Amino acid sequence: MILSVVLRIYIPTIYSIFELAPILIPMKLLLVEDEKELADLLVESLTKEKFVIETAEDFATAMEKITLYEYDCILLDLGLPDGSGLDILKNLKTEGKAENVIIISARDSLDDKLTGLHLGADDYLTKPFHVAELNARIMAVLRRKKMDGKNSLDFGHLSLDLENRSASVREKDIPLNRKEFDILNYFLFNKNRLVTRTALAEYVWGDFIDQADNFDFIYSQIKNLRKKLREANAGVEIKAVYGAGYRIIKL
Ligand code: CA
Repeated sequence: MILSVVLRIYIPTIYSIFELAPILIPMKLLLVEDEKELADLLVESLTKEKFVIETAEDFATAMEKITLYEYDCILLDLGLPDGSGLDILKNLKTEGKAENVIIISARDSLDDKLTGLHLGADDYLTKPFHVAELNARIMAVLRRKKMDGKNSLDFGHLSLDLENRSASVREKDIPLNRKEFDILNYFLFNKNRLVTRTALAEYVWGDFIDQADNFDFIYSQIKNLRKKLREANAGVEIKAVYGAGYRIIKL
């Protein structure tokens, strides 16, 4: 049992050494695309870029996933067999969701572009495009939205330096282990938002380990993190949301 836990913890750690993307933890993407060949190609390429990517090949699946999970960025085709990507955008807007969206569409009409951007899309890429171009757009959108071009995430008195993977409160370092840093990083990307335990586990560990062990481990890491934040007077707290997960808030 202990050995299996140790192995399970170490495998993703070794893996994470190779995550050299400019943003230092894997970003979770949803690709909404009904052309299977294109979808497969994008999944393969974006996985190589260290994105965690899920797919939806129709309107209904996309809506279901968007309702259940949170993504850093949604890549959205407009022409879907059972609906329009624009309606997905409308829905995100009415639900007050803050997901970043890049429209990927063969429709090269100014109308669609304007409608999409008006509905809150962050960017619009016309098919066919190079994967490198899409990758650059994703990184640009994520940087612009979530980090304002900075390399740190700040909340309360807490500051997370993403380049050096360190945390501080009023310039004083808080020692964190690798997983604590990843967890805190994920919370700060999702300030004031509900973070489910499943999302957190998937995000920090990928699909490597089974959920039960994951949740125990998350529970103890969060306990440690809370203590460190409290002792450092970080001015933020990780609140438990009963039966659902957690939310980081300012005190
Ligand atoms: Ca399509």
